[in-house]
Amino acid sequence: MSEREITAAILAVGTELTEGSTQDTHGRFLAGTLVERGITVREILLLPDNRALFAESLRRLAADCDLVVVTGGLGPTSDDLTREVIAECAGVALEFHDELWEQITRRFAGRRISQTNRRQAYVPAGFTVIPNPYGTAPAFWGRVGERRGALVVALPGPPGELRPLVADEVLNLLRAEVGGREPEVLAGTSFLLGESMLEELLQEARVAEVEWGTRAEQFRVVFKLRGGSGEQRERMFEAVSARVGPLRIRRGEVAAEALLLEALRERGLVIALAESCTGGLGAKLLTDISGASEQLWGSFVVYSNEAKERMLGVPAQTIQRYGAVSRETVSAMTAGALERSSAEVSCAISGIAGPGGGTEEKPVGTVWIGVRRRAEAGSERRFLFSGDRDMVRRKSALAAMLLTEGYLGGREVDKDENWQYI
Ligand code: AMP
Ligand code: MG
Repeated sequence: MSEREITAAILAVGTELTEGSTQDTHGRFLAGTLVERGITVREILLLPDNRALFAESLRRLAADCDLVVVTGGLGPTSDDLTREVIAECAGVALEFHDELWEQITRRFAGRRISQTNRRQAYVPAGFTVIPNPYGTAPAFWGRVGERRGALVVALPGPPGELRPLVADEVLNLLRAEVGGREPEVLAGTSFLLGESMLEELLQEARVAEVEWGTRAEQFRVVFKLRGGSGEQRERMFEAVSARVGPLRIRRGEVAAEALLLEALRERGLVIALAESCTGGLGAKLLTDISGASEQLWGSFVVYSNEAKERMLGVPAQTIQRYGAVSRETVSAMTAGALERSSAEVSCAISGIAGPGGGTEEKPVGTVWIGVRRRAEAGSERRFLFSGDRDMVRRKSALAAMLLTEGYLGGREVDKDENWQYI
């Protein structure tokens, strides 16, 4: 039985895209998402904020395809035309939504709200609102064209809003309204592992029909296993994981910060950090995620020895005898952070980020990380990171999160993990 082909187009609107000042990233992301579901992408079109061009193109694409995803143009200003153009092409008026206006007002929380923002509470009549907890521009979907028409989904331009909305809402919508198949792909994320090293591991772990692709991003590499059976993809994933260890090879496209916060949230725990060489970077990365305050008590930034002693009660003799970058010192730091906070978990980082300060015994890149739960002995581990100062600090913060998450999950972080290739 042959299945009917499902076709789609992506229409990214914004003069910044056609003038070349912003690189379109939605096309690639959305196309990948659709193709994975067996949907054929006929066209990816970039358009300036021009009403006539936009309307003409949308009419044509809606007549040709089952699905049109429109991105951008949902802001509050007069060059944001998506609402108007979709309403025009669907032959309907715009409708004011009280509940949307309330949500927008609430997001402004006391700050002066401009009346131009009212534009964002209008949605074409008969279209369904997709609530957007990530920003003020609401997304929506409906049908444009003859008979049943094409499904048209309008999504906000900022990638930080568009991507989570796709994961939260749009995939379900596609399943219900256009069909397609569940993707035959197993996605994973690797941390603290170069892309070429991951490639080598994937080759070693190769399973007959399974193909793979990798995508390096800042401080993580996402990989996708495609083809073969579900069991074969699983087997290959497990083989890669077994070579490196479970902390650095994860299922899905995940971020280390989010993994740690989730592990804390699941257990109802709060963490305090004690940061020396990372200077607060750990807290910065965690607080980049909204809602982190539920799980993060705060961070002691204890760069000098005196700060370690006075803020955390690390004994001066410990630092003198073993050095500030040592198992003993990070162990005393995790103990001090728990003693001087109400957190149940602590994580301490102390290392030599360079370029100066290295010795033969403790070269640049040497970093000790400690983790402790209240009333436990805790666990410490030494790392040797490659790279410049910035890289060493970033890798330290990342390793601290992975290590802490593993520790909370009851892993013997020293034993399970093969900390090579970092
Ligand atoms: P808009 O919804 O048109 O107001 O877009 C808001 C912001 O989202 C723009 O200023 C861009 O920074 C970003 N943006 C919009 N479209 C894209 C795109 N296709 N790719 C990447 N970023 C985009
Ligand atoms: Mg725009």
